[in-house]
Amino acid sequence: MARSKSVLTEARQIERAVTLINLGARLQVLESETDLSYERLLRLYKEVAGKSPSKGQLPFSTDWFMTWQPNIHASLFLNIHEYLNKSSALDEIDTVIKAYQLYTEQMQAQDLEPLLSITRAWRLVKFVDNGMLTMTGCCKCGGQYVTHPHEIARHYVCGLCNPPARAGKGKLSGRFTAGLADAAPAALAATGH
Ligand SMILES: [Zn+2]
Repeated sequence: MARSKSVLTEARQIERAVTLINLGARLQVLESETDLSYERLLRLYKEVAGKSPSKGQLPFSTDWFMTWQPNIHASLFLNIHEYLNKSSALDEIDTVIKAYQLYTEQMQAQDLEPLLSITRAWRLVKFVDNGMLTMTGCCKCGGQYVTHPHEIARHYVCGLCNPPARAGKGKLSGRFTAGLADAAPAALAATGH
């Protein structure tokens, strides 16, 4: 009994690892989220991705999430994630996977490039879990955006309500802003929010 249970657990872990690799996750994410050995994960990675995993450090800084376009992408993802977290009984990593899939579906529907990688999405949830980042409501549109903790909600204006001056100039970034304003409510509608 114990034996067959462990085979099932292992099968589920391999399935999870394959899903994460297909979404483009770094090897460190797989190491953190499964009990599979480094050697097995490396073999699995090469087989599924058809290449060796990229080396180097994971992004450790919260700065990226505070820049204009990444903040909007990260906020969209985190809204979906928080909703799933409250409304479903998925394991933590499966909530990240599901939320990321919904986020990329929204990006495809809007013909936008998903700026947020699965590895960054996973880091973002960790940053929120350990209190380094949180969400604050915009005082103009009421949307919830990724911010540092202790942001004063009464004064906080999001990147969509107050885009940087340069954002309006390029055609691409103008289209981006317009597209994303629609994407956020659409993604939440898709999850039944
Ligand atoms: Zn706003």
